[in-house]
Amino acid sequence: MSDHRPGPVTLLQAFLDASRWRPSAEHSVRRDRLIGLYVLETGGCEGCFMEVEALCGSAFALERSGFRRVMDPVDADWLLVTGALTRNCVDMLNRVWREMPPGRSLVAVGGCAVDGGPFATNYAVLGGLRALTAVRRMIPGCPPSPQDILLGLQELAER
Ligand code: SF4
Repeated sequence: MSDHRPGPVTLLQAFLDASRWRPSAEHSVRRDRLIGLYVLETGGCEGCFMEVEALCGSAFALERSGFRRVMDPVDADWLLVTGALTRNCVDMLNRVWREMPPGRSLVAVGGCAVDGGPFATNYAVLGGLRALTAVRRMIPGCPPSPQDILLGLQELAER
């Protein structure tokens, strides 16, 4: 039986592919300060959450693109939501949103966060953010790749 686990060469190739999206020093984005991103998973398959995690990893050098991951909502400018918004997660979403400083923006990452995706009709979810509130940016996909997510964030930052 063959072994399909990714070997070191495959992982290295994946890292090199991702690194192509890492801006060089001369193309780094310079803003007064980095845009703080807080990520909240609200109930899906977590595929989108893992893609955001990949974007925040070393291969993409997120800070050179003008963003930084923050672990506390009080430090966040944008809230990135993944998942279909289960009823159990609504209080958490409200709490995180209220803790963020004025000027905050909401970004839906992935089909579940936009409109519930494949979970839209499930009794346990509210079916994403689009029908519920104002969303500054929707990044579709199931899941969107880290590159898709980065492009969506850059487009929003350039508005
Ligand atoms: S959009 Fe797709 S990949 Fe993302 S959480 Fe939903 S089912 Fe998973």
